Amino acid sequence: MAPTCDKDGSVGFYATATFGGKEYKDQHLDVVPATGHNFQGGRCTVCGAADPSYNSSNRPNPGTGVSARGISLAVLLPVAAAVAAVCGAIKKRG
Ligand SMILES: [Zn+2]
Repeated sequence: MAPTCDKDGSVGFYATATFGGKEYKDQHLDVVPATGHNFQGGRCTVCGAADPSYNSSNRPNPGTGVSARGISLAVLLPVAAAVAAVCGAIKKRG
């Protein structure tokens, strides 16, 4: 489930390894935090919500929404690597 501006989403990782006729499975479910609105010119470019703090003389930083997405990706990558490591450990044990 993909996150939206103001609602958390979730993502699942599944790993399966077969060794010696036995199947080993592992899974990990992670919460993906809401991305937050990406306000530009007083409106969210994603869902169209009005920016409550918008003021034409004090424009919001247009880079805010991009950096928020970058953070959630940075959180997910190590999790995927950890699942891959677990999968490798199961294989070695057999
Ligand atoms: Zn929005």
